[in-house]
Amino acid sequence: MNSEIRHRIGIMGGTFDPIHIGHLILAECAYEQFQLESVLFLPSGNPPHKKHRHDGASDQERLDMTALAIRDNPHFTLDCEEMLRNGFTYTCETLRLMKEKHPDTDYYFIMGADSLMSFDSWKHPELISASCILLVAVRDQLETEKMQEKMKELHAKFGSRIFLLGTPNLDISSTKLRECLRQKRSVRYFVPDPVLDYIKIKQIYQDTE
Ligand code: NAP
Repeated sequence: MNSEIRHRIGIMGGTFDPIHIGHLILAECAYEQFQLESVLFLPSGNPPHKKHRHDGASDQERLDMTALAIRDNPHFTLDCEEMLRNGFTYTCETLRLMKEKHPDTDYYFIMGADSLMSFDSWKHPELISASCILLVAVRDQLETEKMQEKMKELHAKFGSRIFLLGTPNLDISSTKLRECLRQKRSVRYFVPDPVLDYIKIKQIYQDTE
């Protein structure tokens, strides 16, 4: 008899520059809809797809903002793994290390639709697909048909196991929030209050682009 208990852990990876309610709602929907034990918030270290990022918060500030945003949710945890690695950080390597440390855990990588559309270009999508299940939030401008096609394609190419997440359509992005902050416009309610206070104290996103 196989008595092994498998753990179900979500991973919410992101640049989080800054973290906003879209990220938090995505993670909470995944937690609830896929009966996850917890969700790890994984601020990206030095991701190759953002190597020209020069106008945002520092690594420490992104880490601090993430910690502040999730601190009142007992099933959200901060994971600093990627911040501690040198060189470019790739999701396939992060997952390999996680699986090595926790072979009794099934990982659910949470992402938005745009991330899924560019998934082919990530490093070793076949290894990522073997190491986790992808949970994808659909934003309604992206037709379901196009999404279904992409899911089929990725399954055929890389064996990806992909499930759709039911989430409200939140037209909010870190890029837009940075713009608003630079223009001294309000982003209240788009980011949690402690994050907003931190941004003000640290004067992040104040410079002109
Ligand atoms: P991000 O901009 O902070 O976004 C994090 C995730 O939240 C994305 O999947 C994004 O989906 C989603 N999201 C943001 N706002 C949303 C909203 N309003 N509604 C629904 N979803 C929303 O982080 P990122 O730079 O895309 O990185 C995401 C993760 O992918 C990181 O862990 C990164 O390391 C990983 N990644 C890895 C590779 C690689 O290994 N080669 C390449 C690329 C990314 P959208 O994409 O749809 O905006």
